[in-house]
Order: sequence, then structure tokens, then C-alpha cells
Amino acid sequence: MVKILKTDEQYDTAIDRRSKLNDIISESPEGTTKKETDELEILALVIGEYEKVHFPAGVKLRMKPCPFRHDKKELIVDIHRQQGYFVFCRICKASGPYGKGELEAVEIWNDRQKIT
Ligand SMILES: [Zn+2]
Repeated sequence: MVKILKTDEQYDTAIDRRSKLNDIISESPEGTTKKETDELEILALVIGEYEKVHFPAGVKLRMKPCPFRHDKKELIVDIHRQQGYFVFCRICKASGPYGKGELEAVEIWNDRQKIT
């Protein structure tokens, strides 16, 4: 059952589950059950809510897309306990460099995209 996300761990689990469901559905649209499509809808909702709180839209809007041409919506700002904040692509796992705050992480991410 899908629950409201309260921690980064729950968020990661939800993201994994969502990509698994997306795979199932894209591999066999006819074989998809209503339960699976319902679960995907609810997951999208709770993930969206979590992102609204933890990854403010203003920060995300200014982000340059992934250097490997993945959609901007696949980028998240995450935090590493020792190193700080970093931008991360969910598809290819491109990330970093680390910044002291979300804004700084986005700024150096953008700078790096200029170079590559
Ligand atoms: Zn990417």
C-alpha cells in the first residue's frame, strides 16, 4: 500500500517502485492490471508532494538538464551527509559537484554543464 512519504528513504523506495511499475506497464500495456496503474497514480501523487516540500520548484526551474539529455524532471537535489548537496539524474546517475546548500549545488551543476 502507498503511504505518505516522510523520509528520504521512503522517497527513494517510492522512486524505485515507480520506475519498476513504469517498466512493467511499458513492457506489456495489455497485461497491466488496474491495481498497478492505480498504484502508479498514487505514487506520482505522494512523490510530487514530497518533492514540493523538499525540492522547491524555484530551485528546480533554474537547473540545466542532464548532460546525457535526460529530461529535467529526472533531476533531483539530494544531500550527502558528509559532502553536502548535489544534483542527481535518476536515469544515468550523473551527479554533483557538491555544494553547501541546494542553491549552490544547482549553481555549480549549471556551471559544469557549460563546460561539458
Ligand atoms: Zn541523465
